[in-house]
Amino acid sequence: MKAIRIHEHGGVDRLVPEDLPPRPIRSDEARVRIRAAGLNHLDLWVRRGIPGVRFPLPVIPGSDGAGVVAEIGTAATRFAPGDRVAVAPGISCGLCEECLSGRDNLCPDYGILGEDRDGTCAEEIVVPIRNLIPIPASLPFEKAAAIPLVFLTAWQMVVDRASVRPGETVLVLGAGSGVGSAAVQIARLHGARVIAVSGSASKIAKARELGAEEGIDLSRSDLREEVRRITDRRGADVVIEHVGKATWEQSVACLARGGRLVTCGATTGADVSLNLRPIFFKNLSILGSTMGRRSRLFAIFRHVEAGRLLPVVDRVLPLDRISEAHRLLEERGVFGKIILTT
Ligand SMILES: [Zn+2]
Repeated sequence: MKAIRIHEHGGVDRLVPEDLPPRPIRSDEARVRIRAAGLNHLDLWVRRGIPGVRFPLPVIPGSDGAGVVAEIGTAATRFAPGDRVAVAPGISCGLCEECLSGRDNLCPDYGILGEDRDGTCAEEIVVPIRNLIPIPASLPFEKAAAIPLVFLTAWQMVVDRASVRPGETVLVLGAGSGVGSAAVQIARLHGARVIAVSGSASKIAKARELGAEEGIDLSRSDLREEVRRITDRRGADVVIEHVGKATWEQSVACLARGGRLVTCGATTGADVSLNLRPIFFKNLSILGSTMGRRSRLFAIFRHVEAGRLLPVVDRVLPLDRISEAHRLLEERGVFGKIILTT
């Protein structure tokens, strides 16, 4: 099977096309013929490497994928060859207390496809059967592959961590990113008034189409001042943050009394400073969030099928143009997801 592998960390030239032998499946696994794979910021980190983090190389990158079941293990009680599926990106033991209570992303053995095991940037992937999510016949593979990681991440941030309630104001930073464009929609779905923040007017216009009521263009205005103006000096109840160093202090300053900031990433750097006084005086909460419960994908795909959540695809490229896809994501010129087809 054709696959992209990373043997050493570095630039886009480290994304090497290879022809690999298919590996046999175990009784509790399925082989999926990948038709579309979604790119995430995680792919950039896996390719570049992170100081102090050990990735098992070589690895096939890619956390999101959709396709057709090609082979199913003998233990399968559901799914059959030919079924259309998306692949859930989180792998967990399925046996521990966290897994059994539905919090599989807190499993001590939790891993992500394309990070600590082979991912979706290949013609085929072998995954545990419990990682298969059935997808509606009406949903193209290119759209299905745009959903799992970012919608799971955004759902946990907005719903499970921030507990966004109807009428609250939610500030979404990086609203043009995969996670941002999902968070705008999920916050809107839960009745919030969404303020989309981005560095470009065209991305804000697109975020408004997804349900944002207000937009702040960081290239033209000051974040804190604009939030004060829009909220009548009250501040935002919830800030969805994944930018990190470049926006952190402003993000905290934008919170209303009792506000919650949820962070799932630090694309501009992770070392930030924090003044504790507003944290206690204003009763603020700083919440960390990584991935989400696999079970949430069922609700997410139902909302997608009903048209209440939209997968946001910027463009579709063939897998052999993966270097170009990485470059586009690095240059931040995209709104939503880049999808690679095999
Ligand atoms: Zn577990």
